[in-house]
Amino acid sequence: MNRILENIKVGIIGGPVKRFYKLNAAYSIAMEISSSLDLEDALKTFVNRVASYMGVEIVSIMFLDNEKRRLIIKIAKGLNEEIIRDSNAPIGEGVSGWVGKTGEPLLIKDITKDARFARRSGGHYYNNSLLTVPLKLSGKVTGVVNVNNKISKGIFRQYDLDLLSAIADMSAISLENVRLQGEMKRVSKNNYEMVSNVSHELKTPLATIKEALLLLSEGSLGPLSEKQKKMLCLSNQNVERLNRLINEFLDSAKLENSGSSMKRNLFSITDAAKTVIDSMNIIAREKGIVLKAAIPDKKIEIWGDPDKLNQVISNLVDNAIKYNRPAGLVQISLEETDDSVVVSVRDTGMGIPKDDLNKVFDRFYRVERNDTADISGIGLGLSIVKDIVNMHRGAISVESEINNGSKFTVALPKNLRK
Ligand code: ADP
Repeated sequence: MNRILENIKVGIIGGPVKRFYKLNAAYSIAMEISSSLDLEDALKTFVNRVASYMGVEIVSIMFLDNEKRRLIIKIAKGLNEEIIRDSNAPIGEGVSGWVGKTGEPLLIKDITKDARFARRSGGHYYNNSLLTVPLKLSGKVTGVVNVNNKISKGIFRQYDLDLLSAIADMSAISLENVRLQGEMKRVSKNNYEMVSNVSHELKTPLATIKEALLLLSEGSLGPLSEKQKKMLCLSNQNVERLNRLINEFLDSAKLENSGSSMKRNLFSITDAAKTVIDSMNIIAREKGIVLKAAIPDKKIEIWGDPDKLNQVISNLVDNAIKYNRPAGLVQISLEETDDSVVVSVRDTGMGIPKDDLNKVFDRFYRVERNDTADISGIGLGLSIVKDIVNMHRGAISVESEINNGSKFTVALPKNLRK
């Protein structure tokens, strides 16, 4: 690319090729920044690419600190640490400060002859020529990019300024996106840490209460009347309920924090489904609901995260029991196709209104209806299910008819090794 740049500058190449070079440089740099992992990575990419597309040795970026009204240097290529540390500029002062204040790009052919800037070029510059352009978002300056030292040792021309302006214009939004992503990751990490600390604080006394209730209901502390037994049973159920809610909070925060990190083990989804169904059978029986399973005898193995996929099946079956009618039915089936496994959970419960069907997977969403007011839940179960299914690159769908039950279907690829 640099030979093209030189030919552009000496006039051998002009017109459309010139414009193409400019746009291609700006677009390529912006694209590369968008795929950066963090801001530091994005800034390094930016200064390295600007240096190579423009044929220069020194590139630096300064961001505006609005409170301090200063431009603070974030990264510099071709300058030593000492200069980087000292290179902070008050808005309005010096070359960077002028660009930061006016938002105008600046081409200086010889700084010693520019009355606006009482500055001599330092020893690390070949000559007194430099370029500074603003980084802008919605018309507001967020920083500046400074460029010095052409490898050809010449002075900067209008084309160099246009090229740098095009690069800065296209990259400003990408740099801001990377910065915001980093910010969001930090917030989500703090959020997870807070939820996990609070959960721990809640779970510890809850475990003590559970232990005390167990001692009482076993009669270890003396005989109990029927009324006392009933009261203890109710207290136990509520402790279990609280435990479940805390776990859901924790799971949801964990999924949000870990992004798409998951185990990739080869395991038997048929065995996993049977284990979940056995344990849910106890809860179903207590409520007078029948669980019917159509799980093939043949072991079906898939790659995935066993604990997370157990949770998918158990959350769906739990809902199918919870939102069912007395003496209702829950049917769980598992089928294999060439490259996927399809798990479906169908119930004969109250169904979901049409308008709510695609909202039930949102975090904290619960269908508003009078007959479920006493059914406990916080609207996280299905959002956890959807996150896990997405992580496994699967798909989830729901069909339902009000008063006629619902059917949730999950399709998972069998061979998700990477
Ligand atoms: P929760 O059950 O804790 O409220 P979920 O995220 O598991 O949260 O479900 C969200 C909402 O979707 C529930 O509040 C309920 O209104 C509805 N829902 C989920 N599963 C069923 C089902 N099998 N039958 C009827 N409604 C359901």
